Amino acid sequence: MVSAAETTPRSETTAKKRIVVAETLGYCWGVRRAVELISAAANPEAPIAPIGDIIHNPQIVERLRSQGVVGQASVNDALEQGFRRVAITAHGMGPHLAKEANAAGLELIDTTCPLVVKVQRLAEKLVRQGYFIVVYGDHWHPEVRSVIGWANTSKAIAAKKIEDLPWNSPRGKEGPGLVTPPRKVALVSQTTKNIDELAPFAAKLQAMVIPNGGEFRFANTICEPTSERQNALKQLVEQDRVDLILAIGGRKSSNTARLAEIGNLMGVTSFHIERPDEILPEWLEGRNTVGITAGASTPDDVIESVVDVLVGYGYEAPEGGIHPVDPEYVPAY
Ligand code: SF4
Repeated sequence: MVSAAETTPRSETTAKKRIVVAETLGYCWGVRRAVELISAAANPEAPIAPIGDIIHNPQIVERLRSQGVVGQASVNDALEQGFRRVAITAHGMGPHLAKEANAAGLELIDTTCPLVVKVQRLAEKLVRQGYFIVVYGDHWHPEVRSVIGWANTSKAIAAKKIEDLPWNSPRGKEGPGLVTPPRKVALVSQTTKNIDELAPFAAKLQAMVIPNGGEFRFANTICEPTSERQNALKQLVEQDRVDLILAIGGRKSSNTARLAEIGNLMGVTSFHIERPDEILPEWLEGRNTVGITAGASTPDDVIESVVDVLVGYGYEAPEGGIHPVDPEYVPAY
């Protein structure tokens, strides 16, 4: 018997409006773990104050708030608000936080992602070995600040471009206004950065450091879940020929912004959205295949609500839905 699909004229088949979901998207291992830890500890009778945003996702922040988990800017603020329990978020904190909590007699719940802990300890070790530490990342980001906090030295800085460095010339050069790097420099990265931007930065920094007997150490500390999300998006663009990409995630989520950036750089119109009601009908005009990706702090139900809105616009739901979580998965350290 001939199936309906086999008798459908080709032009009609290709005109079908469909949704393609990236192979890996949404909650990363570390954020899922942090939300699970904090939810398990939550008790409205004994509220918890995570210091900073527990997660860059307003929907989850609201959900946790109803369980007595309410972010505060500092241990002092938490104390003033009467909290007796504080938490370190998945992004981590410098060692000062545990000391402050301990001194104030507060219970501390540490949900730092083990992959961030790895970078913190590496920075600490490299400092002991005499390296000046450069952290490739956003200087204001809690993770970067935590890594610099653990490095515990004035010889550590955050940089995203060569101009952010305190040096302007390769070692061995001399002249008025020239500032050269010290002999030993090590580079690590914020875990959520893009390797396509980190690699050229590393090459330029190395070219400044190694002349004249300089030593350069480079550890690519972009985490495996971040790389997987970026690679899955590239695959979506290359294999599924999407016409539009929606990168779903909180407004403050830098890894979601990076996903939309990658999509645009690959030539596909890409939007970073926080909620399904931000989708404008004109974005969908003449676009038959919509690709979906989501940042590391975007919960499954938010992704599903975006799919539902697209289905309302006449798109076919993705086969097999959004991809299930493997409870056994642990990323490579
Ligand atoms: S993005 Fe990577 S390092 Fe950051 S919380 Fe997720 S798994 Fe951990």
